[in-house]
Amino acid sequence: MKIIAPLSGLKISLMDVPDPVFAQKMVGDGLAIDPTDSTLRSPMDGRVTLIHASKHAITISHENGQQVLMHIGIDTVNLKGEGFTPKVKMGDQVKMGQPLIEFDADLIAQKAKSLITMVIVPGESSLTMTLGGSVRGGHDVLFEVGEGHFKPVQSKKLGAAAESAWVKVQLPAGLHARPAALMVSMAKNFLSEIEVLKGEKSGNAKSVVSLMSLEIGYGDQIRFRAQGEDAGKAVSEMRDLILDLREDAQEVHAPKLAKPAKTGKSNDPNVLTGVGISPGLAIGRVHQVRTEIFVITEVSKLDGSQEKSVLNKALATAQTELSALIAQVKSQTDANRAAIFGAHQELLQDPDLLSMANGFIDQGKTAAFAWRKTTEEHAGRLAKLNNELLANRANDLRDVSRRVLMHLAPPSAKKNDVLPDNAILIAENLTPSETVQLDRSKVVGFCTTTGGATSHVAIRARSLGLPALAGADPAVLNIEPGTEVVLDGERGELRRNPSPEQKAEVSRLQAENLERRQAALKLSHQPAITRDGVRIEVAANIGNAEDARQAVELGADGVGLLRSEFLFLERNDAPSEDEQFQVYQEIADILGAKPLVIRTLDVGGDKPLRYLPMPPEENPFLGVRGIRIGLARPEILRTQVRAILRVKSKAKIHIMFPMISTLEEWRDAKAILEEERQTLKAPPVAVGIMVEVPSTALMADVFAQEVDFFSIGTNDLTQYTLAMDRGHKDLAKQVDALHPSVLKLIEMTARAGLKHGKWVGVCGGLASDLNAVQILLGLGVRELSVSLPSIPLVKSKVRECAITEVETLAKQVLNLKNGAEVRALEKKSQNQLMPALGPTPSFPQTIERD
Ligand code: PEP
Ligand code: MG
Repeated sequence: MKIIAPLSGLKISLMDVPDPVFAQKMVGDGLAIDPTDSTLRSPMDGRVTLIHASKHAITISHENGQQVLMHIGIDTVNLKGEGFTPKVKMGDQVKMGQPLIEFDADLIAQKAKSLITMVIVPGESSLTMTLGGSVRGGHDVLFEVGEGHFKPVQSKKLGAAAESAWVKVQLPAGLHARPAALMVSMAKNFLSEIEVLKGEKSGNAKSVVSLMSLEIGYGDQIRFRAQGEDAGKAVSEMRDLILDLREDAQEVHAPKLAKPAKTGKSNDPNVLTGVGISPGLAIGRVHQVRTEIFVITEVSKLDGSQEKSVLNKALATAQTELSALIAQVKSQTDANRAAIFGAHQELLQDPDLLSMANGFIDQGKTAAFAWRKTTEEHAGRLAKLNNELLANRANDLRDVSRRVLMHLAPPSAKKNDVLPDNAILIAENLTPSETVQLDRSKVVGFCTTTGGATSHVAIRARSLGLPALAGADPAVLNIEPGTEVVLDGERGELRRNPSPEQKAEVSRLQAENLERRQAALKLSHQPAITRDGVRIEVAANIGNAEDARQAVELGADGVGLLRSEFLFLERNDAPSEDEQFQVYQEIADILGAKPLVIRTLDVGGDKPLRYLPMPPEENPFLGVRGIRIGLARPEILRTQVRAILRVKSKAKIHIMFPMISTLEEWRDAKAILEEERQTLKAPPVAVGIMVEVPSTALMADVFAQEVDFFSIGTNDLTQYTLAMDRGHKDLAKQVDALHPSVLKLIEMTARAGLKHGKWVGVCGGLASDLNAVQILLGLGVRELSVSLPSIPLVKSKVRECAITEVETLAKQVLNLKNGAEVRALEKKSQNQLMPALGPTPSFPQTIERD
């Protein structure tokens, strides 16, 4: 079948494309074009089966199942549609040469890495084609594809037979799915049939499922047997591949950090681990957020060939979805997930699976029935192999199964429309707004397989007081709905099948926690004063007016951080000055005489704004983020500060700039604020900065001469100090804000503030950590801005402290080697604390707020 060039330009080999996902053919084989025109045309007659949300990629499917994916430019997904004008929509029938997408070549060339456009046959690994020269879009043939690449070749190959010598498998984790996928893709390069032999058993080298069923482990001896015209070459190259697949296969396809030891896997098969992102214990029943029921008819009314073409179409669509997912996760530089989706693509073409499914269809079953039965049987077999890695591959197979079934038998209902009581939600991820909308009367905790302790979902979970886990073992997605589990948000564990003794222990601890909370709540409207009479402000971190109401109810001394970005996120346009003013005024009114610190818009990095497309960045956390957006787009900052300056409040409003890293950024932001203030003739306002970049902490002494206050953002300060992405699930356990390096920066900031008479607070997650309170006070921090549920407990913790004692502790922890040592010493010192003395009537404040 002829694939016509969709664009005019120079032909380029995929291997020369500056993007490993395409160059390594992870999406499929094809060619690239360096375009000289700007209208992408259809390469054949067919239907539009996918237009990427960012409009830079489109897939056309021929009625015979053949698909072609076109991806305009490299890293263009980050443009979020800017510069692309689709001329067709999903489902449209198109003719060869018909315009599909027009694009603004100048804009894309400026904003993206490259305009080179890939034309790919998804899932194909080797096409024959001529390289070099140029093509005319809509006219010239770009390359040709043979039909039916989803159909397994069943015919027996004739020719010579060959057998390799025995070879020892050196892969530490055995031949798991990803190296198996590598082997399969190599085996498919040969015409011969290739078998892998292990002891008495043999498997098909062109089938991942078959290879995995052999349970090939570290140190096992295997050999290859082939029959066909290239049998000799096949066995020798397959053997070489196995010899090469040592540690490096782990490196390339499963980064070392993802290994069980680092993610803290439990030895107890009932315990699945993750990272605790919101403390607390919950007992409840599993509720899988995205589990569909497929209503599947068993007996087909179509003939076999029609039913097979239905199956092929669904498989092809699933392939395309996975190609798009690979491109997407690759743009988030997640090579590990890209490799997993690559392995899923391999499963979709697995000859053993396909021949079994086709066999069921030949017996008169529907495609949906045949596919589900096939995948269930294989997954069941893998799960029974008593090998944890292979059991996980069973999960991969179930995942792939679900993906295809969605196109064969769209789910008619959600099994889980009704939440059980005491529901523990399990999902790949929850958006911050989904977290906010949780039905608190039913949900007692949640667990996601993505995210980390400082992600925004984690922040919302803490503010809702819901125990939660992130970055959990993906096996959690396969726990049967309704299963009883215990979620431990402190230790980051989800326990299946708790014994009656374990449940009793959890209930006892819950009761103890409740009692402690209730005692703390009784005193939470009293000030938090240390045993030696120093008043500490315990304020709240909030995102909206409802939070402000709760902050007051819970006895917060004020709001130390209003994350104003919650007004800007999850919408299609920026809030106007009036809209912002109304929200800020409402919050100020709720707080009455309590102080309010409003942080200006803090987006970028992990918080993109739909309506504010940013040029693609290699390292968004080190790019135009926080105040840098306000300075790059001053109209946004000006509108916001005007809205804040117009607020009339009983207490003084404070304005705080996020992510200041240089004196110049601070001065430029302050100058914008001053200009607006003078134009509005508004009274002076307290202006401070967040200290969340090491450069600012190191220069705190200089900043302290100019700013009105410091608020330390330990979430970012930790990520930048330790050079560990705050949302990285594999690093999550190490991103510890109690690391002495972070504490030293906090100490420098606090010392500079005290010296120049400026108040210093902490509004990052560390302030809500009860094990950090003593240390922060000892380092000189005098305001703790915490998540809503933490207010009463942090206040009572403060009341247990004496500044003289905690100063000694703080000095000691600064000399320790790591966060674990700090935690251990802090714990030891807690046991020596005097009992709480309760609030003292006279309280000298170290530093006034304004
Ligand atoms: C921080 O970085 O600690 C902080 C409070 O800001 P955010 O978590 O919103 O980035
Ligand atoms: Mg921050």
